[in-house]
Amino acid sequence: MSQRNDLPKTMRRAVFTGPGQITLETVPVPVPAPDQMLIEVKAVGLCTMEQRFYKGSGPYPFLGGHEIAGVVRARGSAVMSEAQLGDLVTVAQLTRCGECYFCRRGLDHLCVHADDQPAPGAAWGPGGLADFMLARGYEVYRLNPDVPYEEGCLTEPLACCTRSVGRAGIRFGDTVVVTGAGIMGLLHVKLAKLRGARVIVSEPSAARRRVAEEHGADLTVDPTAGSMVDFVRAQTDGRGAEAVFYTAGGPRTVEDCIKATVKGGTVVLYGSTHPDPNVSLNANGIHYDEITITGTYRQDRESFREAARMISLREVDMRPFVSAVVPLSDVDRGFKLAANPENYRVIVVPGTGAGK
Ligand SMILES: [Zn+2]
Ligand SMILES: [Zn+2]
Repeated sequence: MSQRNDLPKTMRRAVFTGPGQITLETVPVPVPAPDQMLIEVKAVGLCTMEQRFYKGSGPYPFLGGHEIAGVVRARGSAVMSEAQLGDLVTVAQLTRCGECYFCRRGLDHLCVHADDQPAPGAAWGPGGLADFMLARGYEVYRLNPDVPYEEGCLTEPLACCTRSVGRAGIRFGDTVVVTGAGIMGLLHVKLAKLRGARVIVSEPSAARRRVAEEHGADLTVDPTAGSMVDFVRAQTDGRGAEAVFYTAGGPRTVEDCIKATVKGGTVVLYGSTHPDPNVSLNANGIHYDEITITGTYRQDRESFREAARMISLREVDMRPFVSAVVPLSDVDRGFKLAANPENYRVIVVPGTGAGK
């Protein structure tokens, strides 16, 4: 194993112990196994998953933090990654066992062991909300050294969106619809624009519609003021959009997404819909119109690689999505900020709290 010899002996990590309860524990800095690297965490995004645990989903104790940028401080002897000591990296904190049906089928983001927990009562989770963390070589992606930490940690949400957009087969000049202008909707807008599409955003909030326009949306529509489907048809000679991405809106919006799709087009259900509703669809509509309805969940190795490259090359500006930066000692306040729907990502900065 190679490592920096000025590593501290102990580190802090945030442990979710119950609804609304996070404690900072001091534990030894872990030693990587041969296939692992030790990452000094520099920035972590507070995603919906962490917010769910903060609100009370459990099981506890939970170690949150899966949107991670950091620096390699030690490398196990069997690591093959191109990332060397001192390199800026981002971590795809998603366990792949490599042995289950889905891993063997090449769908390792659906690995049945991705959320395995150790024995009840033992702390589990991605563990990025800490001064240091361990990651397997395949989970570590190098970033260009000039990427700010706060943007580098947003590789994971961007990777979920590169995968989603990739599933729709957008062609130059297509019309794309995105429902919802939260951070995920806005990232869809930016990526669809990069694929040469005209983008329509459907979003009830006037403030968010304005933000969507700033991020490149060509047209916006308020789905509470009239029919989103009629609006899309009117913009496409009555045909519908080639690709429709559902990021938010509820079951009626899912049904509208299907109706707003052109013959031969694709609907991607990116967002989850709560509590767990059924939606209705016209079977003959799908049959005659050959519409593809698909879902997307998480990121895979290729979409993560794409996102790390796009952030490294500064092809997508992630700065507008950083709403607040708080030190690890203030993680509680970070969650209170993250709960405000006007904020996009709240970033937690371990270590000394100094960015770059
Ligand atoms: Zn995330
Ligand atoms: Zn697996």
